[in-house]
Order: sequence, then structure tokens, then C-alpha cells
Amino acid sequence: MNEPMVTSPLPGPRAKALLERDRAVLSTSYVRPYPFVPDRGEGVWLYDVDGNRFLDFFAGIAVNTTGYGHPRVLAAVEAQAKKLQHVCFSDFTHEPTLSLAERLVERLGGGYRVYFGNSGTEAVEAALKLARYHTRRPYFLAFTGAFHGRTLGSLSLTSSSPRYREGFAPLLPGVVHVPFPSPADPPFGVAPEHAAQAVLEHLDHLFKTKLPPAEVAAFFVEPIQGEGGYRFAAPGFFKALKEKLDRHGILLVADEIQTGAGRTGTFLAMEQEGVTPDVVLLAKGLASGYPISAAIFKAELSSWPPGAHGTTFGGHPVAAAAAHATLDLLEAELIENAAHVGALLLEKLRAGLEGVPGVRDVRGRGLLLAIEYADQSTRDAAVRRAFEKGVLTLGAGERAQRLTPPLVLSEAEAELGAALVVEAAREVSQGA
Ligand code: PLP
Repeated sequence: MNEPMVTSPLPGPRAKALLERDRAVLSTSYVRPYPFVPDRGEGVWLYDVDGNRFLDFFAGIAVNTTGYGHPRVLAAVEAQAKKLQHVCFSDFTHEPTLSLAERLVERLGGGYRVYFGNSGTEAVEAALKLARYHTRRPYFLAFTGAFHGRTLGSLSLTSSSPRYREGFAPLLPGVVHVPFPSPADPPFGVAPEHAAQAVLEHLDHLFKTKLPPAEVAAFFVEPIQGEGGYRFAAPGFFKALKEKLDRHGILLVADEIQTGAGRTGTFLAMEQEGVTPDVVLLAKGLASGYPISAAIFKAELSSWPPGAHGTTFGGHPVAAAAAHATLDLLEAELIENAAHVGALLLEKLRAGLEGVPGVRDVRGRGLLLAIEYADQSTRDAAVRRAFEKGVLTLGAGERAQRLTPPLVLSEAEAELGAALVVEAAREVSQGA
């Protein structure tokens, strides 16, 4: 772990050549925040095509729960691929995906049904359609700063940046956004301790003036806003929100696509809020990098008939096998590891960044952490400097640098990563 990590200039010659080819043929919508071209991975380490070694602190954007090449995941994938690959699960049931549904329902305490897709946005689309079909209500609620995906339905809920929406209107009609109750960044100019109450009162006001609550199908929420900047809601807010929604028959859809599967130190982040959602959406970390998503909804909402919704690849047996292995590891040790190593990482980052000009806040829950900078250019410089030092991170929102390592991160790896991220942040804050 202590050998040098970045040993050639970035980008190296092989990375440069591949990036040039990439620019010539790939959609111009791909971002490429810095010139990293991965070749192989092992545990929490990624190696680029020029042989540089990086500590992976973004995990494919909160996806690679068990790191790279975990033997239990590889064994499950290999065994399933040899036995049975694709048979459309929308038409025919099979054991690996069926038992994954049973397992997820059991984890949530029973009384749910599951629909499988391939990606986060497909889980969101399924929830939008399910909620509309079951309630026959036309409106949806979501938060400003939310990110729920980029297909036209989910994009209608997303409001974390105009960049995602520009040029794509008209979107789904009937989506109403309300401010997010973040005490760090309170809405309506209220004091931080009044953030929750202000948003609840705003909802009442909406319900009294222009949005008939009996016509609202569902409220889509992220327990912690992800792409929008790793923003936390005021304590107790979601519980109060759920009570209010229940009074009006409005479904609470918890988009746990980024926060779920153990990342915050519990299987669902909503467990820490004491809230039982009507619908839970999982994707990203559920299968350690294999594409699968799940919309898990209260059984009584499943009033749609066969054929009302479906997909060719969703619930793929190989991805389901990877999800089983991931769940085994989460249950055995990784949920606890996320809580434990996440707390250590937060402590190290806070200690190292205290008083650093240019750093406004360091926050996190489990292995979902962020450093908030004074402005976007300092954040961008910090992400780039961390990369040059051998730690892969990403931006989120306007000013946050997000850290979402694989949940197999050890204490020693967390300390090394924290030291390098702190060094990078200090250097860019001092204009070094
Ligand atoms: N919802 C949340 C909370 C997300 O973070 C994301 C992706 O970042 C999505 C939905 C969309 O998932 P996907 O990119 O797999 O479509």
C-alpha cells in the first residue's frame, strides 16, 4: 500500500491515445471530469492503462460495494453465467431473481412486491407508472436539488442542475418541486432549526392554494440528496413528512439508489430516519457493479395487470447472482464496516481540514461523505489535485467533492485516502 501510486504523468501516453479515440467516436454528452482511463481493479484499487495506481474513492459512483474482483462475487457470477444467462424475467420466472425478490422483501420486513430493471432511472420510471396507475392521481412532488435520473420521466423529477434539463422540455406535466429542508442551507431564509417546519408549512400552503392533495400520487425523495451535493435533511423531517403524506393518501417513494445497499451504515438510509416508505428504489450498489435495479413497493399497490410494465433485460440472473453475493457480504460485515470506517474517515477529514480556508463543511454518513468548498473552482481543483495524488473522487452539486469508496475499505486505506484528500484540499485552498 505504501509503494508510489502515480508514477507517470497524467494522462500517460496510453490514456492520451484512448481519450483521443474516445473524443472522436463517443457521444459528446459523456463528461470525462479528468483523464482517468481504467484498465483493471483489485479491492479498492484501480490501475490505469499506464500502470498508475489509484485509491478508488468513488466506486463507479457509489456502485462497487465489494470493490473489484471480490472472490465471492466472482464465484457467484461465474457459476450463474455457466448455468443460465438471459431468459426474459418479465415473461418467465427463475430462481436467482425470484429469491432475490424474496430476500429484499424480507429485509424490508415483509408486505412488499418487487419489479426489477437494469438501472436507477428504470426503477424511478417504474415507480412513477405504478403510483400513477394505482392512485389514478396526476401530480407528483419532488425536492429542488433532487436527482432521480435522466430519462424523460425521471428527469421531470430531477432538479439538481439546469444542465440536465436544458433543451429537453416539455417534460412530464404535473411535477411540483418544493425546497429541500437542509439546515446547512435553509430554505425561505429561515434559521437552520426551522428548516423542517418551513418546508412542512410550505406544503400545507401548496395544498391549500393550488395543489389538491387528493390529486397527488407520490412524493419522490432521496434520504440524502446525492448528485445535488450530498445534502442532509433536518432531523425528524422525513417522519413528519410521512405522517402528513399518509393523511392525504400520498405515497412516499424513497429513492435509495445512491444511499441504499448499506452505504450509509444501515441497509436503507431511511432506517435511520425511522420511516417505512411505501416504495423503495435500489440500484447502484445492489450488485457490486452488475446492472440491476429494484422498485420495491407495498403489495397492495400492485394493482396493475400482466403486461402493464416490463423490460427485456431487467432482473438478469447473472446480476441477481451478484446481488445475492453482495447481500451476503453486506449482511456478514460490510454494512457494519461502512458505519465504522465511514466514521473514521469523517473524523480524519474533519481533523485534517479544520480551519482550511476554502473548505466550508465536511459531512457524511457511513461511506457517503462530502467536502464542501467555498466555490466551484476550488472544488474542481481539489478533485483534480486528489486525482494527481492517486485518489479518485467526483464532484456533486455546485461545490461538493463526494467520497463514496467501496464498502470493503479498511481503516488503513481510509487513513491513507483521507491524508491525500486533505493534502489536495489544503494545497488548492492555499493556491499551491
Ligand atoms: N436516483 C439517484 C438518487 C441517483 O443517484 C441516480 C444516479 O446517480 C439515479 C436515480 C439514476 O440512476 P441511473 O444512472 O442508474 O439511471
